[in-house]
Amino acid sequence: MGLRDRLKKREEKREQGQNNLPEGVTRYVRLSQELKDGKDFVILRDPNLWFFYYVHEDGDYATRATYVKKHTCLHSPRKAPETEKEADEMFMKFEKPNGDVCISDKAKAKRGLYFMVPVYDIEYGEWRVMDLKEFHVNNLMDDIEKTEKAARKFDKSYTMIGDVVTFSKADKTYTVGSSDMDEAEAAKAIEAASKLDQSLIDYEELANFRDEADMISILREATDDKVDKSVLPAKAEEPAADTSAEPVADGDIQEDELPF
Ligand SMILES: [Zn+2]
Repeated sequence: MGLRDRLKKREEKREQGQNNLPEGVTRYVRLSQELKDGKDFVILRDPNLWFFYYVHEDGDYATRATYVKKHTCLHSPRKAPETEKEADEMFMKFEKPNGDVCISDKAKAKRGLYFMVPVYDIEYGEWRVMDLKEFHVNNLMDDIEKTEKAARKFDKSYTMIGDVVTFSKADKTYTVGSSDMDEAEAAKAIEAASKLDQSLIDYEELANFRDEADMISILREATDDKVDKSVLPAKAEEPAADTSAEPVADGDIQEDELPF
């Protein structure tokens, strides 16, 4: 392939990857808001292959105090696993903090596991992601298992992945179950979802990795006894923080719904 063709391909890919969501709707599903009355989606990827990554954050939910501002751990995968074997290897590689790769690991900042669940949003005809903590993903995986088990009594090959399902907000978590969408409409949504090119979902971009300078300034602002600040460079040696990497201001997105 000549360079000209390669450039054309890149252009095509960019165009396809463009966000066709209405103004004010983000790639991240605003969980508590959009799921409060239940909403239909098609899950695009097997739970065993969902993109996972780690996040540093520390705070007190009850008092709304932030000890360490939420940011992505640099010792995290940059892509979703393609096979269960790869998922396993990735999981083992990144499970423990690594201070050689991530300054926040070195500073022993609290670290938690997150997943990005890729979904087809039927309302908008676009892919989006649900950015969820381990706890919620556990609950969703339980729901999927239960629903599939029940359905397989009638259809042995049934899977919720690729089917229209309803996500709802539940007591302090989220649930997923069968949808009661009209059959013809559901068939249309399933077909549209199956045509989506999942390679357009750039998880690395969605996870918003920061550069080290940025992370150092977050750690500096952190509550003293929540991180080990002795690992931070002396102020004079510190590279200037890149302020352009600040997340886009978006008033009504709740802090717990964005990976940064
Ligand atoms: Zn880290």
